[in-house]
Parts: sequence; structure tokens; C-alpha cells
Amino acid sequence: MQSDTFVYAFDHSYEQAPRQLVDLLGGKGANLAEMTTVLELPVPPGFTITTDACRAFLREGWPEGLTEQITAAVHRLETQMGRRLGDPANPLLVSVRSGARHSMPGMMDTVLNLGLNDISVEGLAEQTDRRFAFDSYRRFIQMYARIVLGLPGEVFDKRFEGAKLLASVETDGDVPAEVLEFVVRIFKQQVELLSGAPFPQDPTEQLRGAIEAVFRSWRSPRAAAYRTRERIAHDLGTAVNVQTMVFGNRDDNSATGVGFTRNPATGEAKAYGDFLVNAQGEDVVAGIRKTEHLIAMKEKFPTIYDELIAIFGRLERHYRDMLDTEFTIEQGKLWMLQTRVGKRAGAAALKLAVTMTDDPVIKLSKEEALLRVGAEHLDQVLHPTFASTGHVIGKGLPASPGAAVGKVYFTADDALDAYNRGEDVILVRMETSPEDVHGMEVSQGILTTRGGLVSHAAVVARGWGIPAVVGAEGIEVTGKAFTAGGITVPEGTVISIDGTSGEVMLDELTKVEAAPPPEFDTILGWADKIREGRLMVRANADNGPDSAKARAFGAQGIGLCRTEHMFLGGRLPLVRRAILAATEEEEHTALAELGKVQRADFEEILEVMDGLPVTVRLLDPPLHEFLPSMEEIITAEARREYVSEAQQALFDAAKHWHEQNPMLGTRGVRLGIIRPGLYRMQVKALVEAAVSRQATGGNPIVEIMIPLVVHRNELAHVRRWVEEEIEAARHEHDLDIRIGTMIETPRAALRADEIAEVADFFSFGTNDLTQMTFGFSRDDVEGRIMAKYLDEGLLPRNPFETIDAGGVGELVRIGVERGRATKPGLKVGVCGEHGGDPESIRVLVGAGVDYVSCSPYRVPIARLAAAQAIILADPDTDHPVLH
Ligand code: PEP
Ligand code: MG
Repeated sequence: MQSDTFVYAFDHSYEQAPRQLVDLLGGKGANLAEMTTVLELPVPPGFTITTDACRAFLREGWPEGLTEQITAAVHRLETQMGRRLGDPANPLLVSVRSGARHSMPGMMDTVLNLGLNDISVEGLAEQTDRRFAFDSYRRFIQMYARIVLGLPGEVFDKRFEGAKLLASVETDGDVPAEVLEFVVRIFKQQVELLSGAPFPQDPTEQLRGAIEAVFRSWRSPRAAAYRTRERIAHDLGTAVNVQTMVFGNRDDNSATGVGFTRNPATGEAKAYGDFLVNAQGEDVVAGIRKTEHLIAMKEKFPTIYDELIAIFGRLERHYRDMLDTEFTIEQGKLWMLQTRVGKRAGAAALKLAVTMTDDPVIKLSKEEALLRVGAEHLDQVLHPTFASTGHVIGKGLPASPGAAVGKVYFTADDALDAYNRGEDVILVRMETSPEDVHGMEVSQGILTTRGGLVSHAAVVARGWGIPAVVGAEGIEVTGKAFTAGGITVPEGTVISIDGTSGEVMLDELTKVEAAPPPEFDTILGWADKIREGRLMVRANADNGPDSAKARAFGAQGIGLCRTEHMFLGGRLPLVRRAILAATEEEEHTALAELGKVQRADFEEILEVMDGLPVTVRLLDPPLHEFLPSMEEIITAEARREYVSEAQQALFDAAKHWHEQNPMLGTRGVRLGIIRPGLYRMQVKALVEAAVSRQATGGNPIVEIMIPLVVHRNELAHVRRWVEEEIEAARHEHDLDIRIGTMIETPRAALRADEIAEVADFFSFGTNDLTQMTFGFSRDDVEGRIMAKYLDEGLLPRNPFETIDAGGVGELVRIGVERGRATKPGLKVGVCGEHGGDPESIRVLVGAGVDYVSCSPYRVPIARLAAAQAIILADPDTDHPVLH
């Protein structure tokens, strides 16, 4: 039986450009082949073992036929180089490196100097010098022992440090040859002692061991955690690259370095990089010695510098992008060890994308430029970041991007007091509730130990642009302190939290303030042209300042105004009075007062959003959210505290409204049906606000939205008296107010045809729709279960972050289709958190929605992502609007 091809030499003659074969060859292997065959750059020869081989190995062990293919590839390499692995006179040495489809820097294993043994080291010593040969052998045994044999690295590190002491030298490079020979002997003894077998002398056995170790390192917990964080699939596997070693540490005419074809921090069109004379690549990365800037090469290696810059030019012309490279100079000869499209900072991404459209060589199209900028780049220029990292003591979900530094406080009241004393505050809570908003809004950052990406803390923080880390399970809050990783952090301690990475750090880190460069507006301007008439972007905002922010970020209206936020703070006593009212009259009076303040809120929002649609959602959360918590009541009762009559009434009401599953209980339209007074008051206040805006020459565009509808009849029922209130309050004014519904339960999506009979528009609440489709509590599942599910690859993504295309996304598609079957042209939006997630936006564009609505700070990201989704849906289409 013919076995699969698992091994390709870098100079294999491919039928297509090898850089397109990243799935098979991994990023590193594909680009090494591209540099070798297409660009004919000086690349040390070698071969790539494919990701297919890795997957087969991880599934069922060493693949059949692989050994023979490797043997053939090694023979070919030996012939090419005129040297053999393990040759006693002039040995060939190779490196064995991982190289997955996506770059996973430092996450998997590498073995260098493979091929050395007790005999070939003497040959190398003859060819070079003794010190160099034994230092290479020492490094090889040290790496091999740790990575392939799984022996503890410290054992070897300690012995090497001991040898340095013995030799009275401080740096590795000063250890004399005799001492290195001694170290090699000691290392081999340790290997035999700890592994029970002598250090393998046969290069074929060494090679097999190293390849297996690299395959296995795909599954290491470190690599798995990295993939979960970077949203890389767990089943891709890694390729392995076996490459002839070249030595940058051979002498002072040798060097090693990393170089970017342009500046990756600023996007400036100037080569950028570092190098080290007489060193190996690992030394540059490890930062043991101080590197020199690339420009210094101009003096030290003038011809090679010119050669390198010319190569940078060729790489850019070929890849039409900014590249990063690793190179080595061995005794005056330049070798390219790796290249890939370079990672870049946010500002650089924007600048590179825009300037490359004017670059006469690269000639990027504007569509291509738009695809070169990611949400993470916009996030970086919209939110402060940290200049460095600190001592990480905990980690949670990155819920709201940005960097925050402040003193920790554990209750909203304490946070507010500290803020009033002029302190910067980080509010730390197990989870937040609407009762905490006064402390949240004055905080620099918010940290919770429970809850997920659509928990209260996450949604509120994103809305306000406050950095937040949520669901940091490893952190335990007890009273006025928290503990993390064995460290206790009392109230008032300064910490730093990174809402972009989810890290919690025990230091006062320096922040770099957000500063969008001029190219920000250029890119978003192009994006807007592409999505015009296809997909609108609105914002979720529920007060004047947030609406203003949203409009400044380019929002085309408000897609969700959550009115519950208007029931908190100073309004809470009024809300409670309405809930407790014993008679209709009492309820009416309390609601009338509440109506007055709500009307002012609405007027402010309508003024800011004048001329743009504002979708106001009637009250959604369960009533007990406005009453004392059961914990509070139980504690008071257990302590037999004195409770006033008024307090007791609140306690009784809280018990009355308490539910086992409030998210599935009396909320949304159900609440409206049993307490119509609340809904009527809201409609009245809203219509009066619109009337008043119109009277002063404004152009209010109001849409009323009913949440959590499951059945046509619910909406028809509520719609009737919403219409009555509109009629009563509009006083002859010509106001065209549309009444629509949220679609946030599977039933509503499936029966969208019937619901559309009584709805003027739909807005998909994908937070609840995800919760109800999966049966995953949005407040509980992310903390406890999601991390495990993602690590195990049971779910490809957190469905609260990126829409589950096959389930929830399918319900959206069905809902849109059935709704429009009843009412052609029915306007459909999405206002769950997915409305600001680029990958979800791609799915939603496919489902045919008219707009997405997201928190103000995500509006620019959604504008860009909408354009990208449209470009990607039809990649060959030219967009004349851009020319
Ligand atoms: C939703 O469920 O997606 C939604 C937008 O409503 P909320 O998050 O307020 O429940
Ligand atoms: Mg909802």
C-alpha cells in the first residue's frame, strides 16, 4: 500500500506557491519553501514533516511510512550538504522546530544542534574549535534532556551554574573548553541516572525522539491554553521543520538577529530589528545580552546589511505586506531562517494598511487594506494599554478592553467614598448587580470573580468603556480582601487589570493612553462606503452621554436603550414605592413621578440622536432586582437585626417576587402583562419626550421594543395598549412610532412568521437567545464550565462571545426568513453582544440582518467588521464606491 506523503524538502517543486500550503506545511514550513523555491533566498536546506503526520501521530502513534520518508529526506540533505549526520569528521547538524498553521510563539518545542554525539563532537571540534564544539554539545544535551526525555531542566541548569562558579566566570560564553567537556560528562551521567538509559548516540534515534517531542508539544497544557486564548482550533496539529544548522555563534564574523521590513510599532517605512554578534537565535530572544539595533549592522557587516535590506524589499514586493524575519550570519555569510507576515501594533496596522495603498510596489487595493486591520488593532487605539507586563496573580475573561490601575475596594459604597477622596479605584466584586452601578461608574476598572461575558459587570463596563475582567475564578473575595495564588490583597492595595488580556497584576503599571492616528478615520471612511445601504451600525446606549459617545463613534442610531438603568440610583425609592403600592392610586402616583424623570432621560437621548432612530426597550429584568437581595434578608433575620416597618415591607415584597429561575420567570413582556402600569408609564414618558422634542424643532425617531416575547398573542396584547398610550400622549402630533419586538427565545425565532403579523420590526437579542438555545445560564456557565469546554475542544468558541453559527445563527436566519415571508422588507437588527463581534457580524450579514447594535466603544469595530463581512462574502467583487 502506498503511504501518504508526509515529508517535503524546502526545495520541493510544488505545483502551487508553497506559501498557500500553510494548512499542510505550517506557517514556518510554507514560508521556508516559498523563500527557497520562489524567491531563491539563502535558506539553510531542510525539510518539513506535515501537519497530517502530526495529526496521525496524535491519533494513533507514529505513522506508517514516516520513518522511510524521513530517512530519504535526510539522505538527500546529506548529499546536498556533502556532510552526514553523526559524521566523525565533519558532521551535519540540524535543528528540529515546530511550525503550526498559526504562529504560537514559544509555545511548542525546539531542539538545536541535533546530530552531535561523543564522536561527531570531535569532528566538529576539528572543523571549528573545541570550545565551540563542546558548548554546542552541552546545549544539545541540555535541551534534549528536558524536551525529549522530559527530565527536569533545573538539574542541568544548576550544574551548569556550578561549572561557571568553578571556572570563576560570569557569562556562558566565557566557560573554557575543558570545563565544557567536564559539563558534558556530568550531563550525560545525569541523563543516565534520571532516565535509566544512556544519552542516545545514534543521530537517527535522536531525530526520531525530537520529532515525536515536537508533535507531542502540540498537546502541552501551555500550548492548549494559548490556543484557547487566541481562538486557534485544537485539532490542527503542528508541522515539524528539520533544517541544517548554521551558527551565528561561531566567531566574531557571525551574528544572529530578527528584523522587520518596516517598523511594527509605528508602521514607519523603515527596516527595524535587533542583532547580536557571535550568538545563537535563542540568545536574542532570551534577552541575556543587550542586542544592537539593525542599523549598527551597516558598520559591522556593511555588505550583508545591504544584502539583508535588499531581501526585505523582495519579501515585501512578494508578500505585499510587512514581514518579520530571523536571520543568521555564519562566518560572513547571510542565511534567512524564517519569515512571516509581521505582527503589528494597532496604530501601525492602520498606517501600514493606508500607506500601502499608495505604495507603487505593493499597490494594495482599499478592499485589501480594510482586511488588514483587525478588531484588536482598533481596540488598541481606542483604549489605553500597558507599557509592560507585571506580576500576574490572576486571570479572568477579558470583558471590556483597556488598561486600568487603581486601589482595590470591595463594595460600591467604598469605591464611591474612595473616589470622592480623589483615589483611582478598581471595584472588586464576586459579581455586580444594578445596585452597584454608582460604584462602577466611578471606577477605573472592574474585576469580578464570577459571571461571564454577558454578565451585568461585563455589559455595563463595555457600555461605559471601563476596562473589566470578569469571572476570575482563581481569585477569592473574603470581606475586604481577596486572595489569588496564595497572595492576600487587602483593601487599598494598588493593582493593574488588563481588560484586553484578562490579566490581573499586582503592580502599578504604566499606562499608554489611547490615541487613534489619522488613518483611523481613513479606514473607517472606506468601510462606511462599502457597507452603505447594506448594514447599518447602531449602539446600545441608555443615557445622553453614552449616546453622544456612540454618535461620535459613528453610530447610526440606538438599537437598544435598556430602560432598566433609568430605574436605579435616585429613582430606586420611587420604583419600590410603585412595586409596594397597596392601591391602584398609590401605584399611579409613584409611577407618575417616575414617568417625569424618565421623560427627561428620553428627551436627552432623543436630542443627542436627533434625526436617527432610537429603539427603546420597555422594562425587561425581574422586579426582584429592584428589591433587597435574599442574602440581605436572610442575614438580617439570622442576626435578628431591628427591621423598620418600611424595611419589612420591602423584605416581604422581595420574598413575594423571589423566583428560583428569574431569568426564565417574570421578566420582559410577562412582567408587562401582569404590571401594565409600568409599561404604560414608560410609553407615556417616551411619547411625551418625543412630542416635546418635536415642539422645539427636533426630529425624534422613536421605536418601541417589547422584550422576551415567545408568542404572537403576547405581543398583540401589549401592542394594543402601547398604541392606546401613544394615541393619548401624542396630542395631535404627527409621530410615526413603530412597535417591534425582540426575538430572544427559540420559539420566537421559529414562529417569527406569526409574530411578524403584529411587529413593525425585529431585533434579535442574541444574549438571551444563546442562553435559551444552549440552556446555558448566562450568569453561571462561563465561569465554571466554559474554560473547560474550550480547553477540551468541546466547543470551538464561547457562544456568548462569538455567535454559534450552526445553532443560534441558524435560528436568526430562520427568524429573518420567516418574519420577512409574512412582511417583506421587515427591518431586522441584532442587539446582543454579538453585534460588536467581527466573526458574529459575518454570520449575521449572511443571515440578512439590516443592522447590528453594540456598545459605543465597539461601534468602530462593527463598522469595519461589517465592511469586511461584505468584502469576504464576495471577494472578487470590486467596490466602485472606493475609487
Ligand atoms: C439580549 O438578550 O441579547 C439582549 C440584548 O438583552 P439583554 O442582554 O438586556 O437581556
Ligand atoms: Mg435579553
